[in-house]
Amino acid sequence: MSAKTIELPTQMTVRDLAQRIEASPIEVIKILMSNGVMANINQMVDYDTAAIVAAELGFETSVERAEDEPEVKENGEIPLWKQIISKEDPKNLVNRPPVVTILGHVDHGKTTLLDAIRNTDVAGGEAGGITQHIGAYQIEHKGRQISFLDTPGHAAFTAMRARGAQGADIVILVVAANDGVMPQTKEAIAHAQAARVPIIVALNKIDRPDANPDFTKKQLAEAGLVPDEWDGDTMIVPVSAKQRKGLPDLMEAILLVADSNEIMANPQGKVMGTVIEANLDKAKGVMATLLVQNGTLQMGDVVLAGKAMGRIRAMFDYRGKKIRSAPPSTPVQIMGLSDVPTAGDIFNVYHNEKDARAVVMQLKLEEDEKKANTAKVSLEDLFSRYKSGETKELKLIIKVDVQGSLEPIMNSLKDLNKEGEIKVNILHGETGNITENDVNLATASKAVILGFNVQADVSARRLAETEGISLRLYDIIYRMIEDIEKALKGMLEPEFKEVFAGTANVLAVFKISKVGAVAGCRVTQGEVRRNNKVRIKRGTDIVYEGEISSLKHEKDDVREVRQGFECGISFKNFNTFQVGDVIECYTLEKNS
Ligand code: GDP
Repeated sequence: MSAKTIELPTQMTVRDLAQRIEASPIEVIKILMSNGVMANINQMVDYDTAAIVAAELGFETSVERAEDEPEVKENGEIPLWKQIISKEDPKNLVNRPPVVTILGHVDHGKTTLLDAIRNTDVAGGEAGGITQHIGAYQIEHKGRQISFLDTPGHAAFTAMRARGAQGADIVILVVAANDGVMPQTKEAIAHAQAARVPIIVALNKIDRPDANPDFTKKQLAEAGLVPDEWDGDTMIVPVSAKQRKGLPDLMEAILLVADSNEIMANPQGKVMGTVIEANLDKAKGVMATLLVQNGTLQMGDVVLAGKAMGRIRAMFDYRGKKIRSAPPSTPVQIMGLSDVPTAGDIFNVYHNEKDARAVVMQLKLEEDEKKANTAKVSLEDLFSRYKSGETKELKLIIKVDVQGSLEPIMNSLKDLNKEGEIKVNILHGETGNITENDVNLATASKAVILGFNVQADVSARRLAETEGISLRLYDIIYRMIEDIEKALKGMLEPEFKEVFAGTANVLAVFKISKVGAVAGCRVTQGEVRRNNKVRIKRGTDIVYEGEISSLKHEKDDVREVRQGFECGISFKNFNTFQVGDVIECYTLEKNS
């Protein structure tokens, strides 16, 4: 295959096409425009159109074979780097160091383990190991490199997953052998499994006299991680982070898992990766730690990370040493971005600042558009999403008050699974209130949260609202099961909630022949819209509930009238309003 020949799929977005022909989306949009096709960055173009664009840039094209299509993207859990390398020529792919993240219950030893590993660093060769913290570091074991994400805890992992970035290739689950499997251990397992990231267990604190490795292994097996010594497929490595024992075995396990998971990249390919952390330094400006996941990042590159862009003015490795280029799996700290990006943002490299800036503009537009129609995951629209082929399963997160109610609920829900219908997939079930973590997991995996006899934390509710996550609380088990059963059959009626729009006071009543009576009003709060539902109150009595039939400002029919303005309103089948009546206006929105 000559360098100028590429395969293109039958359909692709403008962004995708641009990536394949190594042009900027703006260049592609310009060529499309000159051929009479108006398209935005997310629009689909067909093969013939794409071939014309590619030809203008000197490419010969052929139709991509079906087996070259990236794997099923059913639940959006294919990590971005896998999607990127699926477009690379396989002969350019090489193994890259695995990127490891450490999860586990609080106090089980995540930080101690990260410090212990950092201090055994032989690559650094410096006494005392690596002292600076940039959110990630690398070590060398038997001549091979391993990159560690240095921010223990689920929040960082989940933030990345929620953005589809997924920086880690392997999860080390730290479980203290004296304490066993705890709620956050289970949560970590759920996170890693939903992201399809392999787990290695570091069975920590084995130095403690009260350590009980066998009991902990039994618990792990019950939680779905069956030790390999019991014919399962989870490696369980006993360690003492405090006494720095068992670390070489852990490194060995990481390399073994890495070898069986095809962790690859094209060092010469399109440069992309993930923002690990970023902050504003008073003296140096924006400092951002990036994990390179494909291609090689160079000094002077124009980087666009999330919506922050800039040219790399200086680049450092995890030891603070100046470097000029960074191949895949390298964490680097860069200077030169004009804004602080968010952890989990994806970064790309552009030919020049003008192109990057144009993309920022486009991203901002897209964001506004997305906000206007966020695809919410709710039980009510489950069936239509199933019919349209958008989903095949209903993912659930279950929170209950006591252990005793968990099993019957999980079993009844599993019993709803029928051949050829939407599959019920319970991602996670445990006791306790609904927290932000549950909502993060739901966001990352597009799940619905069901609560039985529990509350949702205020912060969880707020997050669910902004992320469009459906959160349903029940106090009767059969109601919950019934709702899910109906949702699977597409028979669940949407629930509506009132959303306040505004109020208006009736100041005068006009009798107009033919039209009937019109209420002369002033809008006292919010706004009144022609399509609002209304409730008319006289004192504390409700004298009418219904709809507006006409809304006028002066003589004109209008769609809305804002606070402080006067208007004439008439109502469907009601004209006996009086001066002093208060009109409450609202809309009905689907409860999600
Ligand atoms: P994290 O919350 O998971 O990051 O846990 P830390 O790393 O902060 O550890 C919690 C406590 O457990 C600290 O007091 C550590 O010194 C102790 N610890 C961590 N690892 C070990 C270990 O291997 N053995 C013993 N005995 N204590 C440990």
